[in-house]
This record gives sequence, C-alpha cells and structure tokens, in this order.
Amino acid sequence: MLRLDKFERYPLTFGPTPIEFLPRMTAALGGKVQIYAKRDDCNSGLAFGGNKLRKLEYIVPDAIASNADTLVSIGGVQSNHTRMVAATAAKIGMKCVVVQESWVPHEDAVYDRVGNILLTRLMGADSRIVPDGFDIGIRKSWEDAIQSVKDAGGKPYGIPAGASVHKYGGLGYVGFAEEVRAQEAQMGVKFDYIIVCVVTGSTQGGMVVGFAADNRAHRVIGIDASGTPKQTRDQVREIVDNTAELVELGRDVRDDEIVILDDYAYPAYGVPSHETNEAIRFAARTEAMITDPVYEGKSMQGMIDLVKKGYFPDGANILYAHLGGAPALNGYSYTYRNG
Ligand SMILES: *Cc1c(COP(=O)(O)O)cnc(C)c1O
Repeated sequence: MLRLDKFERYPLTFGPTPIEFLPRMTAALGGKVQIYAKRDDCNSGLAFGGNKLRKLEYIVPDAIASNADTLVSIGGVQSNHTRMVAATAAKIGMKCVVVQESWVPHEDAVYDRVGNILLTRLMGADSRIVPDGFDIGIRKSWEDAIQSVKDAGGKPYGIPAGASVHKYGGLGYVGFAEEVRAQEAQMGVKFDYIIVCVVTGSTQGGMVVGFAADNRAHRVIGIDASGTPKQTRDQVREIVDNTAELVELGRDVRDDEIVILDDYAYPAYGVPSHETNEAIRFAARTEAMITDPVYEGKSMQGMIDLVKKGYFPDGANILYAHLGGAPALNGYSYTYRNG
C-alpha cells in the first residue's frame, strides 16, 4: 500500500477522470490493440483543466500553510502550467506572478495574445514575458520574480516549471495510478501499457512510482516532447526517488523501469513536425479528441508510430493519458488554418 493518504489534498479537480474506449481510432490503427484514453484534459472546471491541477492539489496546502499571498511560477509563453497556476491562485484567493520565457522558436501573429496566455491574463495574473530560451530546470528569471514579490512587501510561494521539482510535485500522479487500478477493477479491463507525454517529469515520475506498486512502472511509456531528453530523464529519476520515499514504496525503482522514448520531439520543443500535425488531425478526425502541437500531439504521434511498428503485442490494452493542453492550439492559428 502506498501512503498517499497521509498528504493533504486541496481539491481543484472534479474527481476521478473518465476512461473511454476509442473505437474509431482502434479500428483505424488496425484493430490489433485496443486503445483507451484517460481524460485528464477534462478534469476540472478551472480554466479548462489539465495535468498540472492534479499536482497542484498536493502543493496548495503547503502554500496556504506558508502564509503566502502570491503564487510565483514559470513556463513558456503558451504554458499550460502558468495558466493552471493562475487559475489556482484565483480559486484560493491569492495573487499570481508568472514568468513566461521564450521557450518556443515559433512565430505566429497572435502567439502571445491568445490561448493560454490570454486566459492567464484574464484570471488576473501578472504575466511577465522574458526572452530566455527553453530550460526545464530552476531558472534565474523565476528567482528574480520571487524576489520582486518580496521587494514589494508580498509573501511569495514559488512553484517551479511544471510543478515538477517541488517536494510534493510527484504525488498527484501517484494518485493517477491508484485511480487507474480502481477503474480497472470496475471495468474488468487491465491496461498493459500507459502512454504519457514527458517534459518536466513529475507526471511520468508520479506514475512510475504509482505503477511500481504493482510492478508495471516499465509499462509507462514516456514520450519525450522536450527535445532535451537527458535532462528530462535525470529530472524524472530525481522525482521518482523523492516521491517513492514520500509514499513509502519500500524499494528502489530501477533505471530500466523508467522508459522514455526520444524519437518524437523533433524538430524542437513546441514545434510540431509534419508527423505531429498528422497525429493531431488523426485524433481530431477519428475521435474528436483534441491534442496540441507542444505535448499531446507528440505523444499521440508516438503512440500511433509504436502501434504501426508492432511495439505492442496483439491484444494489448493501451491507455493514452490525455493531459490537456488544447488552448495552445490558438497560438498556431496559421499552421492549422486549413485544418
Ligand atoms: C505540462 C504538460 C505535459 C508534460 O508534463 P510534465 O509533468 O511536465 O512532464 C504534457 N502535456 C500537457 C498538456 C502539459 O501541460
């Protein structure tokens, strides 16, 4: 038994997310494996939801206990994470400062005005665009923003990129694994593989710990979308070790239980390849399931390619973890102008 119950959770989501079978996608990919999706993209009424809320549920109690009055976080210009931090701040009655770095070498006339950043501003966050490039680690621009809140007499609570390198960042997705096990029992289906997009690492890191409890951590297939897979892998490793200790997994997770495939992040973080765009269209046209060019489009591309290559044995049940991210599509209006 994992000891997740000893950590306080502040509810930001509706509760367990639905798992649905995807019949048209399954058939279109040959019908030899069954494809399901767990809809964490529909997990909340807060500003379109997404995976960051599961993590933030375990971070908010610590923020409240610290007597902070301002959440301070960081991401790219079209960051889902900063949108979710802005939503959380509004919901719990705190102020919010978010640093938006220029992580993506992408140009679109409305890139910094629509989608995630528009929603972030609408919720009252102080959104500060800075020119620094992509990096999932701890950033000076974020430390500067924390200091600026102090200088103005406020009490900041820092949340790192993706809410990942936070002591409680991995707990939310341990909860995902527990939830899947309960749903498997209800549905009478057992999932052989879980497909998940990975960038800052606590989504997969939490899942790895959660599924290590019934020895299927190696069946969590991380699809890298960072384009810096070594740094992502190191960060997942660190999160796994920290989270395993917190929930008392009771054993070390081996390196071979952390599976990250780095074949699909090209040409760069936030820039979709032709194959990514085809995967986004495929999911939209078979199941009306909307994925984005930064994250889920790449994990969708990875899953489609792996199915076509015969990576999964016939009869396997595959669970695609849909983590959200659709608002970013608006920043790619020219790319998808014809569908
Ligand atoms: C943040 C995010 C991811 C990546 O999750 P990490 O925990 O940062 O690895 C994947 N998909 C979406 C939609 C995200 O917002």
